[in-house]
Amino acid sequence: MPEFTTKITRIRDYPVPEGAPTRVFECHLPAGVAYPYTSGQFAMIAHPNVRLLANQALMKWSSYSISSSPEQKGILEFCIGDGSPTGVSHQLMTMKEGDEFMVRGPFGKFLLDENQEEYIFLATGTGIAPLISMIRTLLAKGNKKPITLYFGFRYPSQYMYREELTEMQANHPNFKAVITASRPDAEWKHHHGYVQDALKNHASAIDKKNIRVYICGKPEIAEKLIEFCLHDMQFAQEHVLMEKW
Ligand SMILES: Cc1cc2nc3c(=O)[nH]c(=O)nc-3n(C[C@H](O)[C@H](O)[C@H](O)COP(=O)(O)OP(=O)(O)OC[C@H]3O[C@@H](n4cnc5c(N)ncnc54)[C@H](O)[C@@H]3O)c2cc1C
Repeated sequence: MPEFTTKITRIRDYPVPEGAPTRVFECHLPAGVAYPYTSGQFAMIAHPNVRLLANQALMKWSSYSISSSPEQKGILEFCIGDGSPTGVSHQLMTMKEGDEFMVRGPFGKFLLDENQEEYIFLATGTGIAPLISMIRTLLAKGNKKPITLYFGFRYPSQYMYREELTEMQANHPNFKAVITASRPDAEWKHHHGYVQDALKNHASAIDKKNIRVYICGKPEIAEKLIEFCLHDMQFAQEHVLMEKW
């Protein structure tokens, strides 16, 4: 299994009124390192500063979805929120461009299936990570099936991938991004409320027969979304896949 040190080439911060920002880390895949992965998979990340509390000789390895697409050669990207002061996420909040961390993997069975007739992606917060990877892959490979992303967060400042999603919509008529904030400000031009409210509003456009729904977010929200998909939207269970953390 590949294990290597990667250098951070770019950090984008998405601040919130309380606490640390969410950060998107673009990293350089070292020359000669093969890191084959499928969109939806995750990597384990470690840093020498973060040791297991029970055994300081061992580094703590933590899981993060890969937000880049395998179609983006030579880079790996992660989208990470803060954690406890002794964990890897918090260490990553202190890092800057040019710093390095360790990567192992890939792992996971939350995988993009490229042979569906229609895709719906439901993301909240950092749950966008594996889903933006999938969308990047589908569009980069010229997939022409209907693809809709419903992306929700609290504050407008948490709107990650804003420019890229806008460009994707301009360049790919089959792709639509429905963006919703539950605590918008007066300037906010997108939806107000939760992802399920937005999904309900657009239900008439959905053919429920040949669809794959991918859900990712915090457990309490992801559970609500899957419940909504299965009971309110009446999607078949086998059409809905969820990753939660
Ligand atoms: C498949 C998968 C994909 C994920 N993808 C993402 C993602 O894309 N973005 C994202 O932000 N999160 C993601 N997560 C969630 C992330 O893995 C967790 O938030 C994880 O807890 C972060 O690790 P941490 O080291 O910061 O731990 P913390 O959040 O700090 O703590 C988690 C647990 O570890 C304990 N702990 C903390 N420090 C130590 C230590 N030094 N030694 C021993 N125990 C310790 C804590 O007490 C707590 O019980 C993902 C999780 C999974 C399972």
